Amino acid sequence: MNYEQILKEIYQESKSLPTFGNVSTSIPELAKIDGNKFGIHLTTINHQDFGIGDSGEKFSIQSVSKALTVALAFSFLDEKVWERVGVEPSGSAFNSLVQLEYEKGIPRNPFINAGALVIADMLVSNLENPKEDFLKFIRKISGCQAINYNLKVAKSEKETGFRNAALANFLKSFGNINNNVETVLDFYFHQCSLEMTCKELAHSFFFFANEGKSISGEQILTKSQVKRLNALMQTCGFYDESGEFTYKVGLPGKSGIGGGIAALFPKNFVVATWSPRLNEKGNSELGMNALELLTTKTGMSIF
Ligand code: GLN
Repeated sequence: MNYEQILKEIYQESKSLPTFGNVSTSIPELAKIDGNKFGIHLTTINHQDFGIGDSGEKFSIQSVSKALTVALAFSFLDEKVWERVGVEPSGSAFNSLVQLEYEKGIPRNPFINAGALVIADMLVSNLENPKEDFLKFIRKISGCQAINYNLKVAKSEKETGFRNAALANFLKSFGNINNNVETVLDFYFHQCSLEMTCKELAHSFFFFANEGKSISGEQILTKSQVKRLNALMQTCGFYDESGEFTYKVGLPGKSGIGGGIAALFPKNFVVATWSPRLNEKGNSELGMNALELLTTKTGMSIF
């Protein structure tokens, strides 16, 4: 497969499309990002790297981090994770509060904000220095020491994160947050502020494609655990657009409002895209389109 040529074609075809969508304004620091940025990086299971466009520029991975926090929680709590968070698609927006009321504080899945806050609470309970230890985990799985939180983004989100504060308090009222709400929110805002290039993001997600083994060969999760998290990304990774992503792209993946998407074809490749203009569901319009072109051109999708 000539990935270099395929990425070039995807890049050129995508660049010629009319611009659609807007950069997220929900976090003031993110509203400053240039909407025309566009990068793709693909890493094959044999460690070959192919990048194009702005694939070497750092961006805020936001909710893409939810796949990595749940992976870490799953690594030490295993199936116990699902006692406090479900594994069903929500069919609702990522920041919705409504289902919590009638589902007694058990979020539908770990990728909506409510679910990610419960996962954050698990990490706060189980890690000695939660923010430092999570960063260490990310550096370990990606093989990259140059990954950091963007403290300006974390602060900006903290100042405007009223809905997340509402969600965390609501969860606490059901007894599904064990730690101090402020501590859990602080952890969550930091995980969302992680900055990576498309290449670093693809490398971080490598273990999802490689039966649980990271790019540097370390077993992060078991084969079966990775199968489960990939299934969750497939059914819930794009909120109420997960069906659409599955229909068009046919790969498990996770999106974020920074405009990033990480997706993978088990035992074949990991791919990360970045384009900050979002559609009304909060997913990167051009990124989704680029991934649709990738699976169409290569014929490589899980379906
Ligand atoms: N930090 C953002 C929030 O909690 C993440 C949302 C997202 O990327 N979909 O609202």
